[in-house]
Amino acid sequence: MRYEDQRQVMVKELKLAGINDNAVLDAFLAVPREDYVLPEYRDYAYRNQPLPILHNQTISQPLMIAIMLQLLEIKKTDIVLDIGTGSGYQCALLAEIAGEVCSVERIEGLSLSAQKVLRQAGYRNIYFRIGDGNTGWQKAYPAHKSFQKIIVSAGAESIPERLVDQIAEGGIMLIPVGATSSQILHIIRRINSEIVITKSGACSFVPLVNEESMSR
Ligand code: SAH
Repeated sequence: MRYEDQRQVMVKELKLAGINDNAVLDAFLAVPREDYVLPEYRDYAYRNQPLPILHNQTISQPLMIAIMLQLLEIKKTDIVLDIGTGSGYQCALLAEIAGEVCSVERIEGLSLSAQKVLRQAGYRNIYFRIGDGNTGWQKAYPAHKSFQKIIVSAGAESIPERLVDQIAEGGIMLIPVGATSSQILHIIRRINSEIVITKSGACSFVPLVNEESMSR
C-alpha cells in the first residue's frame, strides 16, 4: 500500500481509538511519518508503535502523540515548547496545528538531522535549541519567557520547576513522570496564577536526562 494510503488508515485507527480533534487528525494526515524514521524502518512507519531512531532514542507511538496533542487543546495562535525534538516528527505535527514551536533536544546529532528534515518539509515556524530541556527555553530569539503549551516527550523523575515556570497563564504542560520504564502522564495547568496538577494514564517514554543530577 502507498504511504499516503497507509497514512489514511492510521488516521482512521486514531479516530476509532477516540481521537476526535480535527486539527490533530488533519496534522497526522499532513505529515509523512516515513520521512522521520530510519530508512530500514520505513515500511513500519504506519504501525501504531514507537520505532528506534539514532542515539538509542525512539520516535513515539502515533496514538500516544495523538492523545497528548488532543489533551493540549492547541489553538492556531499558541506558542508551544516541545522538549525532546528526537526525529522531529512530533515537532512537524505541532507546527501544523500551532502558531509557533520551540523545540529543545540535548543530543546535537538528533537535533541537526531533525532540523534538516523539517527545513526540507518547508516549516518556517519552528525554532531549535540544543541543550537541556529541564531548563526550558533559554534563547534570545525568539525571546519567549512563557508558552501556552509545553509538551515533554521523555519521562522525568520529577517535575522540572524551571519548565513549570514557563507555563503561561491559562497554559497546559504535559509531562510523563515516574520510573525509567513506565510513567504517569501529568497534566499541569496554570489557572489564576495557581499550579493545578492532574494525572492521566500510564505511558512509557525514554528517560528525560537530567544533566544537573548527572554532573553532581
Ligand atoms: N518527540 C520525539 C520523541 C523523541 S524521544 C519524536 O517525535 O521523535 C525523546 C527525546 O528526548 C530523545 O531524542 C532524547 O534525546 C530527548 N531528551 C532526553 N532528555 C532530554 C533533556 N534533558 N533535554 C532535551 N532533550 C532530551
